[in-house]
Amino acid sequence: MSNKFYITTAIAYVNAAPHIGFAMETLEADCLARYHRMIGDEVWFLTGTDEHGSKIRNTAKEQGMTAQELADQNAPWFENLGALLNLSNDDFIRTTEPRHKLGAQKLWRKLVAAGDIYKSKYEGHYCVGCEAFVTAKDLVDGKCPEHNKEPELITEENYFFRLSKYSDLISEKIRSDEVKVLPESRKNEILSLCDEGLTDVSFSRPKDSLSWGVPVPDDEDQVMYVWCDALSNYITALGYGSSDESKFDKFWPADVHVIGKGILRFHAGIWIGMLLAAEMELPRAIYVHGYITSEGQKMSKSLGNTIDPFASVEEKNCDPVRYYLLREIPTTTDGDFSQDRFKVVYESELADNFGNLFSRVLTLTERFLESKVPEVVGDSLLMKAVKDAWIKYDEHIANFDLKKACEEAVRLGEISNQYIDEKKPWELIKADPASLSQVMYNLLEILRHIACMLYPFIPSTADRMLEALGVPQVYNEGGYVEFREWGVLKSGIKVKKIGVLFPKEK
Ligand SMILES: [Zn+2]
Repeated sequence: MSNKFYITTAIAYVNAAPHIGFAMETLEADCLARYHRMIGDEVWFLTGTDEHGSKIRNTAKEQGMTAQELADQNAPWFENLGALLNLSNDDFIRTTEPRHKLGAQKLWRKLVAAGDIYKSKYEGHYCVGCEAFVTAKDLVDGKCPEHNKEPELITEENYFFRLSKYSDLISEKIRSDEVKVLPESRKNEILSLCDEGLTDVSFSRPKDSLSWGVPVPDDEDQVMYVWCDALSNYITALGYGSSDESKFDKFWPADVHVIGKGILRFHAGIWIGMLLAAEMELPRAIYVHGYITSEGQKMSKSLGNTIDPFASVEEKNCDPVRYYLLREIPTTTDGDFSQDRFKVVYESELADNFGNLFSRVLTLTERFLESKVPEVVGDSLLMKAVKDAWIKYDEHIANFDLKKACEEAVRLGEISNQYIDEKKPWELIKADPASLSQVMYNLLEILRHIACMLYPFIPSTADRMLEALGVPQVYNEGGYVEFREWGVLKSGIKVKKIGVLFPKEK
């Protein structure tokens, strides 16, 4: 029986080019989406762009265009990330689309009906970078630590969302893992914010200031606060508020929202509060990743050390970049993008461990077995290693530790390389042909397991590996394949030699 699995990324502001951190986030979500398709789930994977708010309006003004023009100019940049990184997203939402506005307004009306929207005069400090009012305790030396900028003082009459009312309930839902926040450190972080008591949130901006957003229903002088608008993309993309809500009925609640650590309180606080007020189902999990540094330093435009995902993929190719971001950068803490480290990981793991292994085994099969898979057998130690690896792999994926899941594939690669070196098939051909067949079957079948494990991480390489093994794809649409079992590779199948998977620099 197949389960539905709905996964989202945060949506990116379109005021600047896509950042390597957003590329990593989309890859993490892609890795999980592909894993869930592989195990037979019906997956819906959403990403998109956040096109409202002061940040967009200000940038557009600086560039002498309207906010909509800026959004239209930059949104394709983010949509193109999909092809660049081989993302398998099913939809891409832009918050300036009519479908989004309709749904955001429907949700707003629900909050009004719940009695949780009220009007009040407000004076406070606003960080445009965060698109949020900040208080003294959010600041370091009077500046927002995330953006290293002093916030603006703003006095306005706005609508407020009564988030304070839901503080205890949010805390309870998160504490009990009804909304599972991973890693544990982030769960504790949001719980301690709840303990301090969540405060009401300004949920609209007057239309006449530098605001740009979805109109507040029944008040033409106000637009929605950008976060109120942005968070609702997770339901509006499913057709919430449209004439056909069947996709929403099918896929909501989200199984996983993947986000960066800087926006945890918006998701685990405000978003959960909005859904509680609207009496809607809550997301089952929020997975929080860390940030990427560049050669050990925080990335910044002024240091000139930002990493452009487009340039990286052009230089290094898609799968090696995917592999580095998912396997080298720790999934839930900060990690570093370093050219030296990239080279080490590429050569030792991709080229030597996996690439070399596949080419050795397939070449030996061609040479000694006329490229045919021999009779199905199983070395008990190897079978146990594979079984244990899958158990750990599944556990790590469920705990949002993609790095460790990938390590299981690396370990199987190392075990296989050792096995070849010990068994020396090239000597067995004369000495013991029967045991040669057994050794080769064990190797070919373990390659298949490695390719399946790698599929969510480096899908096009994994597809090439599986094709070489005569297994056309890792999963069948609608049909579950017991790919974790031993002995799936059938005898008599023709394998093909594989070109160099990961060429080393000349
Ligand atoms: Zn900020």
